[in-house]
Amino acid sequence: MFESLTSRFSGAFSSLRSKGKISSSDIEATCLEIRQALLESDVALSVVEDFIEDIRQKSLAALPNLQSGTNQANAIFEIVNASLIEILGGQARRVRFAKNPPTVIMLAGLQGAGKTTLAGKLAKFYADQGNTPLLVASDLQRPNAVTQLQVVGESVNVPVFAPEPGNGQGNPVKVAKDGIEFAKSKMYNMVIVDTAGRLGVDEDLMKQASDIRDAVKPDEILFVVDAMIGQDAVRTSQAFLDGVGFDGVVLTKLDGDARGGAALSIASLTKRPIMFASTGEKLHEFDIFYPDRMASRILGLGDVATLAEQAKKAFDTDTSAKLEAKFASGEDFTLEDFLEQLQAMSKMGNMSKLLGMLPGAGQMKKQIENFDEGEIVRTKAIVQSMTPAERREPKLLNGSRRARIALGSGRKVSDVNNLVDRFAAAQKMMKQVRNGGMPAGMPPGMGMPALPKVNAPVNKKKKSKSGNPAKRAQEEGQ
Ligand code: GDP
Repeated sequence: MFESLTSRFSGAFSSLRSKGKISSSDIEATCLEIRQALLESDVALSVVEDFIEDIRQKSLAALPNLQSGTNQANAIFEIVNASLIEILGGQARRVRFAKNPPTVIMLAGLQGAGKTTLAGKLAKFYADQGNTPLLVASDLQRPNAVTQLQVVGESVNVPVFAPEPGNGQGNPVKVAKDGIEFAKSKMYNMVIVDTAGRLGVDEDLMKQASDIRDAVKPDEILFVVDAMIGQDAVRTSQAFLDGVGFDGVVLTKLDGDARGGAALSIASLTKRPIMFASTGEKLHEFDIFYPDRMASRILGLGDVATLAEQAKKAFDTDTSAKLEAKFASGEDFTLEDFLEQLQAMSKMGNMSKLLGMLPGAGQMKKQIENFDEGEIVRTKAIVQSMTPAERREPKLLNGSRRARIALGSGRKVSDVNNLVDRFAAAQKMMKQVRNGGMPAGMPPGMGMPALPKVNAPVNKKKKSKSGNPAKRAQEEGQ
């Protein structure tokens, strides 16, 4: 979503980096370029003006203290990063749980914003953390909203309170109120109330939402807004703020290709934090909104924190510990280990989305877009067609075995050959790393096309410690 913004930021900073010593006119020029980029991304004018003034003043104030010879552009970059985090809301805020359960979360927003989908995502998110949510179907307006919530509830295994059929029938305020009583009687600790939206802001909508609010006294009113609607998001959020009030914002459809201005304007204009972000139609495509991670992505640093979290979720601790132990003990990395890794990778979800979180992803947009998701599935099929002995000992793979595997996996023999060759190269590289040498050149990713090197503005961090115990001891002793 932020591609054009990211590339403009990268452009502004690479020209700043090319200057050895930065002058005040360089800062003015950078501010002008960032200003233009933000306006083109549909960020609200007042937010842009405040932001630019903030970074301009801080950068000019910092200028006399920038030592010559140090990386002056990086100091300015840090100022911009901090201000960007600030306009995105600063610290991530979590839902406040009620002292006396159930915690009531009410969803409000226009029709099509993604409320019903979000209700399911929130229910899953909190159920996974050991809560017992109940979904309440108070959107009795939109055709099939009640059925949709029931389907969503069923798919995440969360009960739905839906006494009315909807499609224009029933009293949504009564349903909401009864839903809370039902939750209390059945000891649910959380209630998520889905409400009706309209295609545009209107009085009936606001009246109904505020009646529901008064009836259920929510602990959190979350305003759900489609990030694709650009400048309209700002107007709509203001109307909801005045008409119903809300405690936090949920941005949906961040996977879309809109320019991202809504995301950058809303927190700052409404003074309400963005609490969650939705990045797809599927129920797991959702996360807490972290302003610092979003700023990182916008500035082209990627979102390594989220990537690491997703990898941790997918690679369960047992698998990782087993692999680490094998690696340390000098055992060979086998195709069986490789299969386990492929399986974990498929659990991580859409690869293009994951690759998009890498630093400098903007510059390899084309390769990421062209990434063939089916490649992992096809590679898995080849490995799965091998016998356990073949996976442990790829040397067994003679011509007739390769032909059998190709047939079994529906691939060509050349695909099998290709995989075995790439695997042998990876295995060799692992051995070199283990023996303390540097690999001569990274072989292309096992299941993926090789991606080119990029010159992203990465933070210079201390190199991680070696996985090799002997080498690590040596490093620590230095
Ligand atoms: P509601 O009217 O506010 O309840 O909206 P829905 O939950 O029915 O969502 C409207 C449409 O947007 C549906 O087709 C959803 O599948 C889709 N949708 C919801 N959230 C997202 C998202 O984060 N990304 C994308 N691409 N689509 C979404």
